[in-house]
Amino acid sequence: MPIPRETVDQILQAARIEEVVGEFVTLKKRGSNMWGNCPFHNEKTPSFSVNPARNIFKCFGCGKAGDSAKFLMEHEHYTYPEALRYLAKKYNIQIEEKELSPEERMAQTEREKMFNINAFADKFFVDTLWNTDEGKSIGLEYFRERGYLNPIIEKFHLGYSPSKWEAFTNYAKQNGYDPEFLEKVGFSIKRQNGEYYDRYHGRVMFPIHNLTGKVIGFGGRILQSDPEKKLAKYQNSPESEIYQKKETLYGIYFAKSAIVNKDECILVEGYFDVLRMHQIGIENVVASSGTSLTTEQIRLVKRYTKNITMLYDGDAAGVHAALRGTDMILAEGMNVRVVVLPPEHDPDTFGKEYPTEEVLRYLKDNAKDFIRFKTELLLKDAANDPIKKGQVVRNMVETISVVPDPIFRIAYVKETSRLLDMPEETLMMELNKMLRAKFKKSLGVEGEVIPDEPIVTSPTQEQPQEETLPPGYYQERELVKLMLLYGGRTLTIKQQDELGQEIEEQVPVAQMIVDDLINDNIEFNDPVNRKIFEIYDQALNTEELPNDQFFTSNEDEQVSQVAIDLVTTQYKLDGWERHGIFVKKEEDILRKAVQYAILRYKDQIIDARRKEIQDQIKEEPDPDNQLILLKKKKHWDDLRVQINKMLGIVIAK
Ligand SMILES: [Zn+2]
Repeated sequence: MPIPRETVDQILQAARIEEVVGEFVTLKKRGSNMWGNCPFHNEKTPSFSVNPARNIFKCFGCGKAGDSAKFLMEHEHYTYPEALRYLAKKYNIQIEEKELSPEERMAQTEREKMFNINAFADKFFVDTLWNTDEGKSIGLEYFRERGYLNPIIEKFHLGYSPSKWEAFTNYAKQNGYDPEFLEKVGFSIKRQNGEYYDRYHGRVMFPIHNLTGKVIGFGGRILQSDPEKKLAKYQNSPESEIYQKKETLYGIYFAKSAIVNKDECILVEGYFDVLRMHQIGIENVVASSGTSLTTEQIRLVKRYTKNITMLYDGDAAGVHAALRGTDMILAEGMNVRVVVLPPEHDPDTFGKEYPTEEVLRYLKDNAKDFIRFKTELLLKDAANDPIKKGQVVRNMVETISVVPDPIFRIAYVKETSRLLDMPEETLMMELNKMLRAKFKKSLGVEGEVIPDEPIVTSPTQEQPQEETLPPGYYQERELVKLMLLYGGRTLTIKQQDELGQEIEEQVPVAQMIVDDLINDNIEFNDPVNRKIFEIYDQALNTEELPNDQFFTSNEDEQVSQVAIDLVTTQYKLDGWERHGIFVKKEEDILRKAVQYAILRYKDQIIDARRKEIQDQIKEEPDPDNQLILLKKKKHWDDLRVQINKMLGIVIAK
């Protein structure tokens, strides 16, 4: 049934793009637009923009653009009418519609039908729990006995499915639902004689909500285990068009605003863990329930925060579950901490036994950054066995190698070196070996140089194609990024004055970079990078350094685009405080990062020149000229050895 044109206009005018998108994507204001990580393509640098004035969104990475309805169609896979209905509901706009007849219901789209039956079932199970004798005496009693109070039972729409075998199937049939469809969505199971019975009969019901609060599936739990029957403790909805386990987190709808407010998401395993935490007032909690953690689930959290705390049972299984998840979270560029409960507890029992303040204190006191968590765990297993200790080293380095941000990698190497009592240099060498191998593998080709990281991960219009990138492009970007983020911060450097006395000097990061490159007569190859470099160079003569906004809202669109790309990435020194490591040494790490970036850049430039000459040598027929070229090449080879030595020193310092 079509929605009248006037109503459509009314809906689209009422819809605020930033509010609609903001339900799904964390947006940060920058200039007149808002920015976030694009939900339509995988990226680490926000290139997804929302323009409140024009009421549209646009991704500069993948090109998706449009209004609120278009966003919902792309993101939630709604049809156009579904998107409009969603918006109408959000903005309290009445759509004239009559009650659907069974025939009309059949004609609805499959997806809408699925949402519809889940909402219908949700209501039935909740009604049964609160308003029938069996529901009250068995289902409600069960929740009460476990210590759950009405507000939480109501909030999460907990329900009860009657023990009578066909109760729900029959009720749904009477209301026009086709048993085959009920079977498909998972509510009914077909007997050999062709009749249908309830999948969830005699279970307490946990509806599973999507981000917008619609029920997309259920988990049903038996009340007592009967060893005779060997029933599975939980029955879950089968996967469907609207319910994919690996993309779903239990509780996300109820947790998302708390996650944003606390800038942290606590990850637990089961339904009851989520319920308990909410009941004691800790609401930024979701569960991976039913699957081991997936990358899709992590990305779902990442829309709201970069910080995950894994809260797991104190037993061995819980510890190993935590361990499995950490690398996946790290690979998404997020921060992970782990809290392991005392051996006899899970989050549900722990929250039942202790008051909120004590639970919070326990979380605070026992949260370990993953480096400490993993190292301690592995070392316990290895004891004093040197061979096993070698494995621990490799294992840790492997974990660090998945971290996308090079600055964090350096910080983690430092921490690991301290914990393992092993030189940083050794770990760094091992790490570089691993990164190189990974990089080769990812290219599927032979290559001997790793770019430090793909610093610009979102392809913008102006950005050169991979194969036409000038040598050292990524390293140039790294240096520009350091200037944009930390250009004005001063570092203490030791220098010798004319008399050979050692003096300390305060030098801004931008100056360190600019002076160093100018001294070596190096110019950036990429025109936009060069422009930014020149602005700094000039500003350094005038005492006043431009801040990052000068660049992000620069009249030169190429400059502002690059600046936006670079400064909106996740890496910020403040992030380290979350890990509780290295805070005091922030200046050291920044200095190291700057020195490292300069040397890596020079290494790339020198390597490019070496290779150029090598090619010339191959082409050169005259042996005398070849000799001259060989000498030139030797010069660059020597320089490269020097640079690598200095890199080694920077790393080991
Ligand atoms: Zn995109």
